[in-house]
Amino acid sequence: MSVQPIQQIENKKMSNDDDESWLRVKARLRAEVGDDVFSSWFARMDLEQLSDGVVRLSVPTRFLKSWIQSHYAERVLACWQAEQDQVGRIELIVRSAVLKTTMQPKPKAELIGASSEGARGFGNGVGAGRPMSAGDPGVHEALGGSPLDARLTFDSFVVGRSNTLAQAAARQVAAARRGDPVMFNPLYIHAGVGLGKTHLLQAITWAGNAANERKVLYLTAEKFMYGFVSALRTQTALAFKEALRGIGVLVIDDLQFLQGKSTQAEFCHTLNALIDAGRQVVIASDRPPSELESLDDRVRSRLAGGLVVEMGTLGEELRLEILKARVNTARSHTPGFDVPLPVLTYIAKTVTHNGRDLEGALNRLLAHNKLTGQSVTLEMAEREVRDLIRPQEPKRVKIEDIQRVVARQYNVSRSDLLSSRRTANVVRPRQVAMYLAKTLTLRSLPEIGRRFGGRDHTTVLHAVRKIEGLVGNDMALAEEIEILKRQLQE
Ligand code: ADP
Ligand code: MG
Repeated sequence: MSVQPIQQIENKKMSNDDDESWLRVKARLRAEVGDDVFSSWFARMDLEQLSDGVVRLSVPTRFLKSWIQSHYAERVLACWQAEQDQVGRIELIVRSAVLKTTMQPKPKAELIGASSEGARGFGNGVGAGRPMSAGDPGVHEALGGSPLDARLTFDSFVVGRSNTLAQAAARQVAAARRGDPVMFNPLYIHAGVGLGKTHLLQAITWAGNAANERKVLYLTAEKFMYGFVSALRTQTALAFKEALRGIGVLVIDDLQFLQGKSTQAEFCHTLNALIDAGRQVVIASDRPPSELESLDDRVRSRLAGGLVVEMGTLGEELRLEILKARVNTARSHTPGFDVPLPVLTYIAKTVTHNGRDLEGALNRLLAHNKLTGQSVTLEMAEREVRDLIRPQEPKRVKIEDIQRVVARQYNVSRSDLLSSRRTANVVRPRQVAMYLAKTLTLRSLPEIGRRFGGRDHTTVLHAVRKIEGLVGNDMALAEEIEILKRQLQE
């Protein structure tokens, strides 16, 4: 095994003995973790200093540093202690940070400029010995980019009140050029099913890649899991990292499906590495970061630290516009197809649920028209879309929604509501939330107690009675509760 040349750094105090020890430590590590893991993570690790029982090791990127720190720190320490028992601590540093004492981080150097020497010996060719270029198909191979739908572009995305902000932010991301300062990172878009998240994310991907400025990679959370996990399993973690270097914008759809502790740790590292390197990250999910229950607090706060935008339900006007746009597209393939405005208005009024149902409704009319040659009439529409019309049943209120809305109203966090804190500014909102949970949902008292941080049902009962008693006398509170109810039911 050859020794990596050690960087010349001032104030490095090392004896030959230390170098010898380092060689043996590396041999130990290699024996413990295996050749592949060793060359993925440790090949570019250098010994910088050993003094007063502290071993200072350097790696070329922050990503490597945090990965080793969280996955291998103890093992590295143990290997050192087996060599020199006075070693008490390991310190990991990023090499460029040692060489340049400037305080200004140089984000670009982190992911792009990192040397590729460690990639030698990786037989799969992905990123071996050269930095990835933006258009390199290896990037997609290594990461398994998810397939894109050619119809989901900005041009076909109709903007209305509920999605103006999300669309503007998405356009901004897609138009940004290499090296532009990143305005909000990550961009986190959340909305219910069928409200245009995937459409917007794929639009970013198409537009960004067409501009050929920054490579945009679109992945579903499942693909992300599969890409990373399989990269690790096949021991091409380094190739994976090389591939990540080629990406300017990472787009992850349906983050709520990200499962499993280790996947989340990997996601956290990737997120941090990309954001720290000034790369844009865009995420869509069916819920806000605060409600991604299974995610680590740190990841959640990192996600909430960028721009979080919600897209609301599609209003009737927006539905009508979407339908018109769809008809126009359909007409370009099927020239004879036409849907009279009253029919479109009827569908926009009655098919209220989401964009997918709108598309389904039109597809049926189109199919009917094509198969029978009959032109589209209101009668046909009524018959064809009947099962897509949902009765205007009162909205089902969820306990999470209650907690979210109440927390927002009283300016406390949702975790405050679930916590055991007993300060007045938390106790009252918590009681209000429990009261609403009892009156607006069909959940039992024990169930509500459980959803409020594991409280006893008697606590819930007490809260409900308390608020019931108060609203009779306290007009302001009664009004607050009315407003909350309306927000939850609209
Ligand atoms: P989500 O990912 O949020 O579940 P999608 O992006 O898959 O929803 O949207 C569902 C369908 O509705 C798609 O066919 C999409 O093109 C359409 N759609 C949703 N919002 C819009 C919009 N603002 N303009 C045009 N089409 C939309
Ligand atoms: Mg989607």
